[in-house]
Parts: sequence; structure tokens; C-alpha cells
Amino acid sequence: MPTILERFHATHEKSAQLYAAGREVVAGGAAQSRVMFPHPFYVDRGKGAIKWDVDGNELIDYLVGFGSLILGNARPEVTEAAERQLRNGTHFGTTSSYEVRWAELITELMPAGERVRFTASGTEAVETAVALAQVYTGSIELIALRHGYSGRSLLAQSLTAHAPWRAIPSQVAGIKHAHAPYCYRCPLKLEYPSCGIACATDIKELIRTTTTGKIAGFLAEPILGVGGFIVPPPEYFQIATDIVREHGGIFICDEVQTGFGRTGGKMFGIEHWGVEPDVMTMAKGVANGMPLGVTIATPEVADAFEALTISTFGGNPVSSTAANATIQLIESEHLADNAEAMGARLLQGMEALQRKHPKHLGDVRGKGLMLAIEFVADEPAGDRTPSPELANTVFEAAKERGLLIGKGGLDVNVLRISPALTVTTDEVDQALSILAESCAQLPT
Ligand code: PMP
Repeated sequence: MPTILERFHATHEKSAQLYAAGREVVAGGAAQSRVMFPHPFYVDRGKGAIKWDVDGNELIDYLVGFGSLILGNARPEVTEAAERQLRNGTHFGTTSSYEVRWAELITELMPAGERVRFTASGTEAVETAVALAQVYTGSIELIALRHGYSGRSLLAQSLTAHAPWRAIPSQVAGIKHAHAPYCYRCPLKLEYPSCGIACATDIKELIRTTTTGKIAGFLAEPILGVGGFIVPPPEYFQIATDIVREHGGIFICDEVQTGFGRTGGKMFGIEHWGVEPDVMTMAKGVANGMPLGVTIATPEVADAFEALTISTFGGNPVSSTAANATIQLIESEHLADNAEAMGARLLQGMEALQRKHPKHLGDVRGKGLMLAIEFVADEPAGDRTPSPELANTVFEAAKERGLLIGKGGLDVNVLRISPALTVTTDEVDQALSILAESCAQLPT
């Protein structure tokens, strides 16, 4: 029986060549591949739910550009809108009429009166949000979450709480990381609900013992994305944000992964948790793959920032037009509702798989179409030692069978399952049957 590597090379010759060439010229590509894609494939094109690699292999796309292709690959209405705009001008400077129209559209999705700033990536959206909080409060101190991810700038790496994503030896001062609301691996070794949501109440102790007692804000993802789709208990955000506000801070909600219907039933992830942020950040799905970062703040917070600031590519007309078309489709096709229904079907199938493989599928969790399976070694029996190897076995087996999923978690032992919001019942059932065949490769 040929090894996975041999089979891989047989069907991925051109990808293997590109990988070898890429190691010489693309900085960081090899490290990324080692962790995320040990047998990388290079995409040639995509349409709807399908991607084709350079060797002609067809893959059902349950990764969707790390969450960016929220309507699937090359959605015609978005492509046509962007194409039209490309012909009318790619850049208008900061007086773009599109910026105003698009800001009006996005604020309609929010409770009244928000102010929008556009940038070109999630990292910049986070940088912008933090600057707003710091100027508004006059404090620089921030609380972020362990297992959180915020991007690749110095500040964003410092907010990020995953050693593998923090390369810069010196980090930004004034950032403290609270325990993650990670029930499967409770950092306080407690059980929900008898824990009293101690991970949230501990934020008070964190602020009182490790800061000046007066903070700029608390930055958190409603569901921790790169962390492995960690879903907090329902009470978490109410308790955490009350404590933060008691200490002068504002709440920055990072919706880069959770925004635009991804979590099912609601437009934004935080709407599930019944609290209102002061600032929200968005990127990824907002323009179905075109680069755009969005930071929305209450007028009080936004207007406190009077200094000059510019993002040359922020809110450019092509991305803004694509975003406009994307949001209209999410709304007109009720895709947040579809995400809820299809997510429930997927989760049910994943839970059935867990019952079949209880030893190694340690946790199955998620909301809407942000679903995850956490793999454990189960040695000794019942132990929750993370198993990136088993996650990888299922990841590669699924890829060989034509299903592309994502990876995540501090130990890269979590498979992330997040198709486009347009996914259909047939596509869900097909993915579930590939996942079942792939899990059959696990040791018994
Ligand atoms: N915040 C979150 C929650 C993210 O998941 C990411 C990207 N994975 C970012 C910020 C940074 O976004 P970008 O890669 O567009 O800079």
C-alpha cells in the first residue's frame, strides 16, 4: 500500500513542483505549510463550492479562503460588480462616493449612529480599533484573550495569544491576556455551569493586579477562530464586559471571522451573546475575498479621535463595490438563516461521528457554519492530550477524497469546518460522508 506521501506525489505533481520552487522564493511559506498543509496543493481556480488545483484535482471547499469567500468562489454578482467598478476606476482617494454609500449600508446593519473607518485588512481594522480605544480613554492598557488571534503587525501579534504566531521577540507593553472561555480545556479546571463563569469573573482580578486599574479596553472574538472555534458559555460576554466597563474600558469586538452571518441566524457573532460592543472590527467575508477592513465605533468613541490618519487603500471603490454586492446577497438570500440550518445539520452529523469515534474526537463544537472537531490521543484512556497527528490524518484523508477543510487550535489538533453560507443540504451530506470515511482511518 503506497504511503500518503507517495499517493500525494502521484496526483499532485505540479503542486509538489510549485512547493519546491516556493520554498526558495516565498518567505515563510515552508513554515506555514509544515504546520497547516504538510502536503500543500496550489489552487488554480474556484467556482461556487469547488476549487481546482494546478493538477486538476477537484476539492469541495470547506475552508473558503480562511473564511473570506463567504458566498463561495467567484460568485458572479460580486465579480460583475467588481469588474464594472474596475473599468470605472480603481482608486478615488479618500473622497470616494462609494465609501459613503457603503458606510451607510453597513451602518444600517447596526443599531443607530455608528461611524465607520475603512482599511485593507483585518490586522489594520484591529490596529484602528485599538487606537480609537486608547485615544478615547486616555489609557493604553488592554485585555485580550488567551488563544485569541488578531493579525500580524507588532500590536496584533502582541494581542494574539498563540506562541507560534508571535515571532517578534519584543511585544507591545500594556497587554494582559485573560483566560480563554474554553470549556473543553477549562484553564481553571472547573465544570460549566457550576464554575460560575470564573474565567469571566477573573478579569476583575487580572485588571486589579496587573494593570493600573483603569484600562483602554477588552478585545475579544465572539467565537475564537484561529484558536479552534472556541465557543464561550452564553453568560461570558455579559460578565466580562461589565467588569471591563467598571474599569473604564470599552469593548472591542473582533468580528473578522464571525461577521456577516457566519455564526448562523444573526449577522454578527456578538448578537448571540446579548451585549453591545463600542467598537467592532471586520474583514475576511465582508467583500467575498476582496481586501477590505472595517472598524465601526459609536460616535462618542469615533469622534474623540481628531488626529490625521489615512489608509491609502482603505475603502477603495472596487472592494467597496464588492462588499456592497456581498452584503446585499447575504440579506436577500437569507444566508445567515441558511448558515443556521445547514450548520445544525452538519453539527448533528459531526456529533454522530463523535459517538462512533469517542476516543479520538474529543470535542465537537461550534455555531452556525463555524464548526470544529478537536482530536485527542486518548492515551492513557480518557486523556485529552491534543493530537495534531490524528487531526492531520483526517485532514489529509478528507483532502484525498476531495474535501478541503481547515486547521486550527494552539496545538493544531482542531479541524475547522466552515463552508460558504450558500452551502446546500446535498453538499452538507456529501461532506459528512467524506468526513465519516476519513475518520475511519483513525486507530481504533
Ligand atoms: N482578527 C481575527 C479574528 C482573524 O481571524 C484575523 C485573520 N485570521 C485577523 C484579525 C487578521 O486579519 P488579516 O489576516 O486580514 O490581517
